[in-house]
Amino acid sequence: MARRSPWCIDAVIVDCHCHAGTGDQLTAPWNTRAPLAKYLRRARAAGIGQTIFFPAFQSDYTDGNRQVARIVRQLGSRAVGFAMVHAGRDTGRIDDMLNEAVRLGLRGLKVHGHDHMPTREVCNTVARLGWPMLLDVAGDAHVIDMLASEYPRVNFIIPHLGSFADDWRAHERVVEQLARYPNVHADTSGVRRFDYIVRAIERAGPRKVLFGSDGPWLHPGVEIAKIRLLGLGSQAEGLVLGGNARRLLGPVAAQAPRGEARLQA
Ligand SMILES: [Zn+2]
Repeated sequence: MARRSPWCIDAVIVDCHCHAGTGDQLTAPWNTRAPLAKYLRRARAAGIGQTIFFPAFQSDYTDGNRQVARIVRQLGSRAVGFAMVHAGRDTGRIDDMLNEAVRLGLRGLKVHGHDHMPTREVCNTVARLGWPMLLDVAGDAHVIDMLASEYPRVNFIIPHLGSFADDWRAHERVVEQLARYPNVHADTSGVRRFDYIVRAIERAGPRKVLFGSDGPWLHPGVEIAKIRLLGLGSQAEGLVLGGNARRLLGPVAAQAPRGEARLQA
């Protein structure tokens, strides 16, 4: 393996959005299995040094969170784990679930609006932990106005610029929310209408947009090409490709690479 000097840490590309593990519902790829072998080969070829993983959709995220923690342990410094909760079904046990996630080494929360939008119980726990929350609003961008203003200390990352389903109205609204709220960020995964990514960076600046692939179902090489094609200067591109993710993950990430990478240094 190539030797790396410590200053390279700041240049590690971070994919902030990838699913991992198995689901139990068996009605669609995203609740059945998120296999990583191809993703990891593709990510390495694309120059991605670290990926944030979270569970596939399932009926009990306690199990999914444990799966992700095992995967993250296996992958060492290449991986960061986020927990998931179902804000409705898990009412009354969010604190317990996320306290376990902390013990498992997970470092953020993913919530999907198709499950349930985050409640106060979820936001209070995440605020206490100082975690970022990756929140897929599934087109319902209006909820961000409530969440971002009620919880200014929680950093939200809105995947797909608000809509995986190509809802341009959601993209329009999220672009404005990125500019309005200091704690709202977006990821680029699966965004088809390229000029909304251009607009997001023009309107809100490169600190508010994170590269994400939505692996393993979307190809990280295709998704990272979108970032390269923005033609940003090296400093702005560095923020989108990893600097912003490291900042939102907090001081533990700033110490990366750990494990295998430290052995290389
Ligand atoms: Zn996803």
